[in-house]
Amino acid sequence: MRIVATSQHECSDLLKRVSIGRLACSLDNQPYVVPVRFSYEPDRIYIFSTVGKKIKWMRQNPKVCLQADDIGNSSNWMSVIVTGTYLELSEPQYHTAQREHARALLAQDSQWWRIPLSERRDGLVSSIETVFFRIDIESMSGLRAMPETE
Ligand SMILES: Cc1cc2nc3c(=O)[nH]c(=O)nc-3n(C[C@H](O)[C@H](O)[C@H](O)COP(=O)(O)OP(=O)(O)OC[C@H]3O[C@@H](n4cnc5c(N)ncnc54)[C@H](O)[C@@H]3O)c2cc1C
Repeated sequence: MRIVATSQHECSDLLKRVSIGRLACSLDNQPYVVPVRFSYEPDRIYIFSTVGKKIKWMRQNPKVCLQADDIGNSSNWMSVIVTGTYLELSEPQYHTAQREHARALLAQDSQWWRIPLSERRDGLVSSIETVFFRIDIESMSGLRAMPETE
């Protein structure tokens, strides 16, 4: 098996192709990682979220990291790591058009809203606080593994 660094173009292709990633944030030297569904467009990642620990942490420390991958098997996979800054679209300066843009991108996947809401089904749906946020991408790196014969 060979492992090679991929181009920025290949990183973008993977982020367009897959919709589940692991979002990492941190507070007071403590990392926290959760799986999330996302939509990518150049330089940005959009996520719809319930308000809980990750949102509270990212509001305090907006530096985040997201990892996504496409795993065929142990010798055929690709992984991308993005670093960037959390930006909540409910802030006054981000108006309806920005949120509608995020909603339209995320709605391309019909499941986009179900996981965050169903996780909170113990509470009244009307009482669940949700937010759209985006990650403004600062860097992307990718690694690809392939069998020696390719
Ligand atoms: C495939 C997949 C896609 C998902 N997509 C989204 C999405 O798009 N948006 C979204 O908001 N959520 C999504 N979730 C759920 C998400 O991973 C979190 O569980 C959820 O958002 C709550 O996170 P929180 O930080 O608000 O946790 P809180 O509800 O504040 O959680 C408190 C504690 O619960 C534990 N906990 C929370 N989440 C998890 C977890 N996933 N695994 C183990 N322990 C946990 C932690 O110990 C945490 O300290 C997805 C989950 C999966 C599996």
